[in-house]
Amino acid sequence: MKTYKIAAIPGDGIGTEVVSAGLEVLEALAAREGGFAFHIDRFDWGGAYYKRHGRMMPADGREQIRNHDAILFGSAGHPDIPDHVTLWGLRLAICQPFDQYANVRPTRVLPGITSPLRHVAGPELDWVIVRENSEGEYAGVGGRVHQGLPIEAATDVAMFTRAGVERIMRFAFALARSRPRKRLTVVTKSNAQRHALVMWDEIAAEVAAGFPDVAWDKMLVDAMTMRMVMRPETIDTVVATNLHADILSDLAAALAGSLGIAPTANLNPERQFPSMFEPIHGSAFDIMGKGIANPIGTFWSAVMMLEHLGEPSGAVRLMTAIERVTANPAFHTPDLGGRARTVDVTRAVIDAIAGANA
Ligand code: NAD
Ligand code: MN
Repeated sequence: MKTYKIAAIPGDGIGTEVVSAGLEVLEALAAREGGFAFHIDRFDWGGAYYKRHGRMMPADGREQIRNHDAILFGSAGHPDIPDHVTLWGLRLAICQPFDQYANVRPTRVLPGITSPLRHVAGPELDWVIVRENSEGEYAGVGGRVHQGLPIEAATDVAMFTRAGVERIMRFAFALARSRPRKRLTVVTKSNAQRHALVMWDEIAAEVAAGFPDVAWDKMLVDAMTMRMVMRPETIDTVVATNLHADILSDLAAALAGSLGIAPTANLNPERQFPSMFEPIHGSAFDIMGKGIANPIGTFWSAVMMLEHLGEPSGAVRLMTAIERVTANPAFHTPDLGGRARTVDVTRAVIDAIAGANA
Protein backbone atom coordinates (compact mmCIF):
# COMPACT_ATOMS: atom_id res chain seq x y z
CA MET A 1 0.00 0.00 0.00
CA LYS A 2 1.24 3.46 -0.88
CA THR A 3 1.93 5.72 2.12
CA TYR A 4 2.10 9.45 1.46
CA LYS A 5 4.33 11.50 3.75
CA ILE A 6 2.51 14.73 4.55
CA ALA A 7 4.08 17.68 6.36
CA ALA A 8 1.35 19.48 8.32
CA ILE A 9 2.15 23.07 9.23
CA PRO A 10 -0.93 24.45 11.03
CA GLY A 11 0.72 27.83 11.79
CA ASP A 12 -1.33 30.36 13.72
CA GLY A 13 -4.86 31.33 14.71
CA ILE A 14 -7.60 29.35 13.00
CA GLY A 15 -4.89 27.71 10.86
CA THR A 16 -4.36 25.27 13.74
CA GLU A 17 -8.11 24.59 13.99
CA VAL A 18 -8.74 23.93 10.32
CA VAL A 19 -5.60 21.86 9.75
CA SER A 20 -6.51 19.54 12.64
CA ALA A 21 -9.92 19.12 11.03
CA GLY A 22 -8.30 18.54 7.63
CA LEU A 23 -6.02 15.81 8.97
CA GLU A 24 -8.97 14.00 10.57
CA VAL A 25 -10.80 14.08 7.27
CA LEU A 26 -7.76 12.81 5.35
CA GLU A 27 -7.34 9.90 7.78
CA ALA A 28 -11.01 9.01 7.38
CA LEU A 29 -10.72 9.22 3.62
CA ALA A 30 -7.66 6.93 3.49
CA ALA A 31 -9.46 4.41 5.71
CA ARG A 32 -12.50 4.47 3.38
CA GLU A 33 -10.50 4.29 0.14
CA GLY A 34 -8.20 1.56 1.35
CA GLY A 35 -5.54 1.84 -1.37
CA PHE A 36 -3.30 4.35 0.36
CA ALA A 37 -2.38 5.76 3.77
CA PHE A 38 -0.95 8.97 5.15
CA HIS A 39 2.06 9.38 7.36
CA ILE A 40 1.60 12.80 8.94
CA ASP A 41 4.44 14.84 10.46
CA ARG A 42 3.29 17.94 12.32
CA PHE A 43 5.51 21.01 12.58
CA ASP A 44 4.74 23.61 15.25
CA TRP A 45 6.19 26.51 13.26
CA GLY A 46 4.59 29.95 13.33
CA GLY A 47 3.97 32.77 15.77
CA ALA A 48 4.27 30.79 19.01
CA TYR A 49 7.50 29.21 17.74
CA TYR A 50 8.75 32.72 16.88
CA LYS A 51 8.15 33.90 20.43
CA ARG A 52 10.34 31.08 21.77
CA HIS A 53 13.04 31.03 19.11
CA GLY A 54 13.02 34.43 17.39
CA ARG A 55 12.21 32.90 14.02
CA MET A 56 9.12 31.41 12.40
CA MET A 57 10.74 28.08 11.51
CA PRO A 58 14.08 26.43 12.28
CA ALA A 59 17.09 27.25 10.10
CA ASP A 60 16.96 23.74 8.63
CA GLY A 61 13.14 23.75 8.44
CA ARG A 62 12.99 23.35 4.70
CA GLU A 63 15.37 20.40 4.86
CA GLN A 64 12.97 18.74 7.32
CA ILE A 65 10.10 18.85 4.82
CA ARG A 66 12.09 18.64 1.57
CA ASN A 67 11.30 14.95 1.01
CA HIS A 68 7.63 14.93 2.00
CA ASP A 69 5.10 14.20 -0.73
CA ALA A 70 3.06 17.30 0.07
CA ILE A 71 2.58 20.06 2.63
CA LEU A 72 -0.75 20.94 4.27
CA PHE A 73 -0.53 24.49 5.54
CA GLY A 74 -2.87 26.51 7.80
CA SER A 75 -2.05 30.17 8.14
CA ALA A 76 0.84 32.42 9.12
CA GLY A 77 -0.16 35.52 11.08
CA HIS A 78 -0.05 36.32 14.79
CA PRO A 79 -1.64 39.29 16.56
CA ASP A 80 1.64 40.22 18.31
CA ILE A 81 3.99 39.92 15.33
CA PRO A 82 4.12 42.17 12.25
CA ASP A 83 2.49 40.52 9.23
CA HIS A 84 5.52 40.90 6.94
CA VAL A 85 7.61 38.97 9.49
CA THR A 86 5.17 36.05 9.75
CA LEU A 87 4.51 35.92 6.00
CA TRP A 88 8.12 36.09 4.83
CA GLY A 89 9.35 33.96 7.74
CA LEU A 90 7.11 30.99 7.02
CA ARG A 91 4.78 30.90 4.05
CA LEU A 92 7.00 32.67 1.54
CA ALA A 93 10.07 31.01 3.09
CA ILE A 94 8.59 27.74 1.83
CA CYS A 95 6.87 28.82 -1.42
CA GLN A 96 9.80 30.67 -2.94
CA PRO A 97 12.76 28.30 -2.32
CA PHE A 98 10.54 25.33 -3.22
CA ASP A 99 9.75 27.15 -6.47
CA GLN A 100 6.00 26.70 -6.06
CA TYR A 101 5.45 29.12 -8.90
CA ALA A 102 1.91 28.15 -9.84
CA ASN A 103 -0.72 29.11 -7.31
CA VAL A 104 -4.03 27.59 -8.38
CA ARG A 105 -7.29 28.87 -6.92
CA PRO A 106 -10.54 27.24 -8.01
CA THR A 107 -13.76 29.11 -7.29
CA ARG A 108 -17.23 27.63 -7.49
CA VAL A 109 -20.50 28.26 -5.72
CA LEU A 110 -20.91 24.97 -3.87
CA PRO A 111 -24.36 23.40 -3.37
CA GLY A 112 -26.31 25.10 -0.57
CA ILE A 113 -24.13 28.21 -0.60
CA THR A 114 -25.53 31.59 -1.58
CA SER A 115 -23.43 33.92 -3.69
CA PRO A 116 -23.79 37.63 -2.85
CA LEU A 117 -24.38 38.07 -6.60
CA ARG A 118 -28.13 37.85 -7.00
CA HIS A 119 -27.96 36.58 -10.59
CA VAL A 120 -25.62 33.70 -9.70
CA ALA A 121 -27.15 30.39 -8.68
CA GLY A 122 -24.14 28.14 -9.26
CA PRO A 123 -23.08 27.20 -12.78
CA GLU A 124 -22.55 30.84 -13.80
CA LEU A 125 -19.50 31.00 -11.58
CA ASP A 126 -16.89 28.30 -12.16
CA TRP A 127 -13.40 29.75 -12.34
CA VAL A 128 -9.80 28.80 -11.76
CA ILE A 129 -7.45 31.66 -11.04
CA VAL A 130 -3.76 30.96 -11.68
CA ARG A 131 -1.51 33.24 -9.69
CA GLU A 132 2.16 33.74 -10.54
CA ASN A 133 3.63 32.78 -7.19
CA SER A 134 7.38 33.25 -7.42
CA GLU A 135 8.24 36.76 -8.53
CA GLY A 136 6.53 39.92 -9.78
CA GLU A 137 5.45 42.41 -7.15
CA TYR A 138 6.23 39.99 -4.30
CA ALA A 139 9.80 39.20 -5.41
CA GLY A 140 11.07 40.85 -2.25
CA VAL A 141 13.40 43.17 -4.16
CA GLY A 142 13.76 46.62 -2.67
CA GLY A 143 14.94 48.38 0.41
CA ARG A 144 14.67 51.27 2.80
CA VAL A 145 17.15 54.06 3.34
CA HIS A 146 17.37 56.93 5.81
CA GLN A 147 15.03 55.10 8.17
CA GLY A 148 13.35 57.39 10.66
CA LEU A 149 14.68 60.55 9.01
CA PRO A 150 12.56 63.03 7.08
CA ILE A 151 14.30 61.95 3.86
CA GLU A 152 13.37 58.29 4.41
CA ALA A 153 12.73 56.38 1.17
CA ALA A 154 11.54 52.87 0.35
CA THR A 155 11.18 50.76 -2.79
CA ASP A 156 9.45 47.50 -3.68
CA VAL A 157 10.60 46.55 -7.16
CA ALA A 158 8.38 44.25 -9.20
CA MET A 159 10.63 41.68 -10.86
CA PHE A 160 9.37 39.88 -13.96
CA THR A 161 11.60 37.42 -15.80
CA ARG A 162 10.96 35.98 -19.26
CA ALA A 163 11.40 32.47 -17.88
CA GLY A 164 9.02 33.20 -14.98
CA VAL A 165 6.30 34.68 -17.16
CA GLU A 166 6.64 32.01 -19.82
CA ARG A 167 6.26 29.12 -17.41
CA ILE A 168 3.17 30.54 -15.69
CA MET A 169 1.59 31.30 -19.09
CA ARG A 170 2.27 27.74 -20.28
CA PHE A 171 0.82 26.37 -17.08
CA ALA A 172 -2.31 28.55 -17.39
CA PHE A 173 -2.89 27.77 -21.08
CA ALA A 174 -2.47 24.05 -20.39
CA LEU A 175 -4.92 24.23 -17.48
CA ALA A 176 -7.42 26.18 -19.59
CA ARG A 177 -7.09 23.51 -22.30
CA SER A 178 -7.89 20.79 -19.76
CA ARG A 179 -11.20 22.41 -18.81
CA PRO A 180 -14.38 22.01 -20.86
CA ARG A 181 -14.65 25.60 -22.01
CA LYS A 182 -10.96 25.98 -23.02
CA ARG A 183 -11.04 29.70 -22.26
CA LEU A 184 -8.33 31.85 -20.65
CA THR A 185 -8.31 35.47 -19.57
CA VAL A 186 -4.87 37.05 -19.19
CA VAL A 187 -5.11 39.83 -16.61
CA THR A 188 -2.74 42.73 -17.12
CA LYS A 189 -2.11 46.39 -16.39
CA SER A 190 0.07 47.19 -19.36
CA ASN A 191 -1.45 50.62 -19.82
CA ALA A 192 0.09 51.95 -16.60
CA GLN A 193 2.91 49.47 -16.01
CA ARG A 194 4.62 50.02 -19.29
CA HIS A 195 7.68 47.78 -18.98
CA ALA A 196 7.15 44.49 -17.19
CA LEU A 197 3.44 44.17 -17.99
CA VAL A 198 4.03 44.93 -21.66
CA MET A 199 6.49 42.03 -21.66
CA TRP A 200 3.85 39.98 -19.80
CA ASP A 201 1.37 40.64 -22.63
CA GLU A 202 3.92 39.85 -25.34
CA ILE A 203 4.83 36.53 -23.75
CA ALA A 204 1.14 35.66 -23.33
CA ALA A 205 0.65 36.13 -27.06
CA GLU A 206 3.75 34.04 -27.87
CA VAL A 207 2.65 31.16 -25.64
CA ALA A 208 -0.92 31.40 -26.97
CA ALA A 209 0.36 30.53 -30.43
CA GLY A 210 1.13 27.04 -29.10
CA PHE A 211 -2.45 26.61 -27.84
CA PRO A 212 -4.64 27.34 -30.87
CA ASP A 213 -7.55 25.46 -29.29
CA VAL A 214 -7.68 27.79 -26.28
CA ALA A 215 -9.77 30.95 -26.72
CA TRP A 216 -8.04 33.72 -24.81
CA ASP A 217 -8.54 37.38 -24.12
CA LYS A 218 -6.70 40.10 -22.26
CA MET A 219 -8.20 42.33 -19.59
CA LEU A 220 -6.92 45.18 -17.44
CA VAL A 221 -7.09 44.25 -13.78
CA ASP A 222 -9.41 47.07 -12.76
CA ALA A 223 -11.88 46.18 -15.50
CA MET A 224 -11.54 42.55 -14.46
CA THR A 225 -13.00 43.28 -11.00
CA MET A 226 -16.07 44.68 -12.68
CA ARG A 227 -16.38 41.75 -15.07
CA MET A 228 -16.14 39.29 -12.15
CA VAL A 229 -19.15 40.94 -10.56
CA MET A 230 -21.22 41.86 -13.61
CA ARG A 231 -20.51 39.04 -16.09
CA PRO A 232 -19.09 36.09 -14.11
CA GLU A 233 -20.34 33.56 -16.67
CA THR A 234 -17.91 34.94 -19.30
CA ILE A 235 -14.90 33.87 -17.18
CA ASP A 236 -13.32 30.41 -16.97
CA THR A 237 -9.54 30.20 -16.39
CA VAL A 238 -7.64 33.34 -15.39
CA VAL A 239 -3.93 34.06 -15.15
CA ALA A 240 -2.60 37.10 -13.32
CA THR A 241 0.48 38.45 -11.57
CA ASN A 242 1.27 37.71 -7.94
CA LEU A 243 -0.31 40.94 -6.65
CA HIS A 244 -3.24 41.13 -9.05
CA ALA A 245 -4.26 37.51 -8.49
CA ASP A 246 -3.86 37.88 -4.73
CA ILE A 247 -6.53 40.57 -4.76
CA LEU A 248 -8.77 39.06 -7.44
CA SER A 249 -8.88 35.71 -5.68
CA ASP A 250 -10.14 37.18 -2.40
CA LEU A 251 -12.89 38.86 -4.42
CA ALA A 252 -13.57 35.53 -6.13
CA ALA A 253 -13.82 33.78 -2.76
CA ALA A 254 -16.30 36.34 -1.48
CA LEU A 255 -18.41 36.05 -4.64
CA ALA A 256 -18.51 32.29 -4.11
CA GLY A 257 -20.01 32.79 -0.67
CA SER A 258 -17.17 32.99 1.86
CA LEU A 259 -13.42 33.28 2.23
CA GLY A 260 -13.72 30.26 4.54
CA ILE A 261 -14.49 27.94 1.61
CA ALA A 262 -11.73 28.89 -0.80
CA PRO A 263 -8.81 26.49 -1.39
CA THR A 264 -5.45 26.89 -3.00
CA ALA A 265 -2.53 24.84 -4.25
CA ASN A 266 1.02 26.19 -4.42
CA LEU A 267 2.45 23.90 -7.07
CA ASN A 268 5.95 23.07 -8.16
CA PRO A 269 4.70 21.47 -11.38
CA GLU A 270 8.07 19.83 -12.14
CA ARG A 271 7.87 18.06 -8.74
CA GLN A 272 11.46 18.89 -7.82
CA PHE A 273 10.06 20.09 -4.48
CA PRO A 274 6.93 19.28 -2.50
CA SER A 275 3.85 21.36 -3.32
CA MET A 276 1.82 23.07 -0.62
CA PHE A 277 -1.96 23.09 -0.10
CA GLU A 278 -3.79 25.61 2.09
CA PRO A 279 -7.03 27.48 2.55
CA ILE A 280 -6.65 30.99 1.15
CA HIS A 281 -7.83 32.65 4.35
CA GLY A 282 -5.52 33.82 7.13
CA SER A 283 -5.42 33.44 10.91
CA ALA A 284 -8.76 35.24 11.46
CA PHE A 285 -7.92 36.83 14.81
CA ASP A 286 -11.57 37.82 15.30
CA ILE A 287 -12.77 34.21 15.53
CA MET A 288 -9.72 32.20 16.59
CA GLY A 289 -10.19 29.90 19.56
CA LYS A 290 -13.98 30.01 19.24
CA GLY A 291 -14.36 26.75 17.37
CA ILE A 292 -16.40 28.33 14.56
CA ALA A 293 -13.82 28.52 11.75
CA ASN A 294 -15.14 27.11 8.50
CA PRO A 295 -12.92 24.10 7.64
CA ILE A 296 -14.27 23.68 4.09
CA GLY A 297 -11.43 25.71 2.51
CA THR A 298 -8.95 23.28 4.06
CA PHE A 299 -10.98 20.22 3.02
CA TRP A 300 -11.15 21.48 -0.57
CA SER A 301 -7.38 22.14 -0.43
CA ALA A 302 -7.01 18.49 0.63
CA VAL A 303 -8.95 17.54 -2.52
CA MET A 304 -6.37 19.45 -4.58
CA MET A 305 -3.63 17.64 -2.66
CA LEU A 306 -5.17 14.25 -3.52
CA GLU A 307 -5.35 15.23 -7.19
CA HIS A 308 -1.69 16.24 -7.10
CA LEU A 309 -0.69 13.00 -5.36
CA GLY A 310 -2.44 11.05 -8.10
CA GLU A 311 -5.45 9.83 -6.10
CA PRO A 312 -8.33 10.98 -8.34
CA SER A 313 -10.88 8.60 -6.82
CA GLY A 314 -10.09 9.84 -3.30
CA ALA A 315 -10.30 13.42 -4.56
CA VAL A 316 -13.74 12.84 -6.07
CA ARG A 317 -14.97 11.06 -2.94
CA LEU A 318 -13.85 13.91 -0.69
CA MET A 319 -15.28 16.62 -2.97
CA THR A 320 -18.58 14.75 -3.16
CA ALA A 321 -18.66 14.55 0.64
CA ILE A 322 -17.91 18.28 0.95
CA GLU A 323 -20.73 19.16 -1.45
CA ARG A 324 -23.20 16.93 0.40
CA VAL A 325 -22.36 18.74 3.60
CA THR A 326 -22.50 22.29 2.21
CA ALA A 327 -25.88 21.47 0.67
CA ASN A 328 -27.29 21.16 4.20
CA PRO A 329 -27.62 24.57 5.94
CA ALA A 330 -27.51 22.80 9.32
CA PHE A 331 -23.78 22.42 8.63
CA HIS A 332 -23.11 26.05 7.77
CA THR A 333 -20.69 27.91 10.04
CA PRO A 334 -21.42 31.56 11.01
CA ASP A 335 -19.47 32.98 8.02
CA LEU A 336 -22.18 31.32 5.87
CA GLY A 337 -24.97 32.59 8.10
CA GLY A 338 -25.34 29.32 10.02
CA ARG A 339 -24.67 28.13 13.54
CA ALA A 340 -22.56 25.01 13.00
CA ARG A 341 -19.16 24.67 14.61
CA THR A 342 -15.92 23.43 13.07
CA VAL A 343 -16.35 20.02 14.72
CA ASP A 344 -19.92 19.64 13.37
CA VAL A 345 -18.80 20.27 9.79
CA THR A 346 -15.81 17.95 10.21
CA ARG A 347 -17.95 15.16 11.64
CA ALA A 348 -20.51 15.59 8.84
CA VAL A 349 -17.83 15.35 6.14
CA ILE A 350 -16.35 12.26 7.78
CA ASP A 351 -19.84 10.68 7.91
CA ALA A 352 -20.39 11.57 4.24
CA ILE A 353 -17.04 9.98 3.32
CA ALA A 354 -18.12 6.79 5.02
CA GLY A 355 -21.44 6.83 3.17
CA ALA A 356 -20.50 8.32 -0.22
CA ASN A 357 -20.71 5.78 -3.06
CA ALA A 358 -21.12 3.08 -0.45
P1 NAD B 1 -8.32 36.54 7.36
O1 NAD B 1 -8.48 35.68 6.17
O2 NAD B 1 -7.61 35.95 8.52
O3 NAD B 1 -9.76 37.04 7.84
C1 NAD B 1 -10.60 37.88 7.07
C2 NAD B 1 -12.05 37.75 7.55
O4 NAD B 1 -12.58 36.52 7.06
C3 NAD B 1 -12.20 37.71 9.05
O5 NAD B 1 -13.37 38.39 9.42
C4 NAD B 1 -12.33 36.25 9.36
O6 NAD B 1 -13.06 35.95 10.54
C5 NAD B 1 -13.04 35.71 8.14
N1 NAD B 1 -12.60 34.33 7.86
C6 NAD B 1 -11.44 33.95 7.29
N2 NAD B 1 -11.35 32.62 7.24
C7 NAD B 1 -12.48 32.13 7.80
C8 NAD B 1 -12.97 30.81 8.04
N3 NAD B 1 -12.27 29.71 7.70
N4 NAD B 1 -14.15 30.67 8.65
C9 NAD B 1 -14.87 31.75 8.99
N5 NAD B 1 -14.47 33.01 8.78
C10 NAD B 1 -13.29 33.21 8.20
O7 NAD B 1 -7.54 37.86 6.86
P2 NAD B 1 -6.94 39.06 7.72
O8 NAD B 1 -7.84 39.39 8.85
O9 NAD B 1 -6.59 40.10 6.72
O10 NAD B 1 -5.57 38.50 8.30
C11 NAD B 1 -5.39 37.99 9.62
C12 NAD B 1 -3.96 37.46 9.73
O11 NAD B 1 -3.76 36.36 8.84
C13 NAD B 1 -2.88 38.48 9.35
O12 NAD B 1 -1.78 38.27 10.20
C14 NAD B 1 -2.52 38.11 7.93
O13 NAD B 1 -1.21 38.49 7.58
C15 NAD B 1 -2.66 36.61 7.99
N6 NAD B 1 -2.92 36.00 6.67
C16 NAD B 1 -2.21 34.89 6.36
C17 NAD B 1 -2.46 34.22 5.19
C18 NAD B 1 -1.69 32.98 4.88
O14 NAD B 1 -0.91 32.53 5.69
N7 NAD B 1 -1.88 32.37 3.73
C19 NAD B 1 -3.45 34.69 4.30
C20 NAD B 1 -4.18 35.84 4.66
C21 NAD B 1 -3.90 36.49 5.85
MN1 MN C 1 -4.06 37.00 -0.10
